[in-house]
Amino acid sequence: MTYVVTENCIRCKYTDCVDVCPVDCFHEGERFLVIDPDVCIDCGVCVPECPVEAIVENMRNRGRSSAPRRTRLPMRTFGPITPTS
Ligand code: SF4
Ligand code: SF4
Repeated sequence: MTYVVTENCIRCKYTDCVDVCPVDCFHEGERFLVIDPDVCIDCGVCVPECPVEAIVENMRNRGRSSAPRRTRLPMRTFGPITPTS
């Protein structure tokens, strides 16, 4: 899940949301700001800053983890097992 900006944002004079975003993921869209979903870390800090409640959860991605995908690590290999006496 990431956050998205809705049309309530059109002609906003404030950009408090941009100021508080720790990862600078707001960009100027055609008519209003957009949040880059690849950069947003879902912290939610921007939501209460918006005076017109234009920032909402993206319901389309609900349930999808924003945690980085696990990468497969190489298997650790061991030498031959030797019996101990
Ligand atoms: S504060 Fe809200 S309305 Fe203003 S630019 Fe940010 S998202 Fe848009
Ligand atoms: S949820 Fe956090 S990272 Fe995403 S746009 Fe808002 S402040 Fe930036």
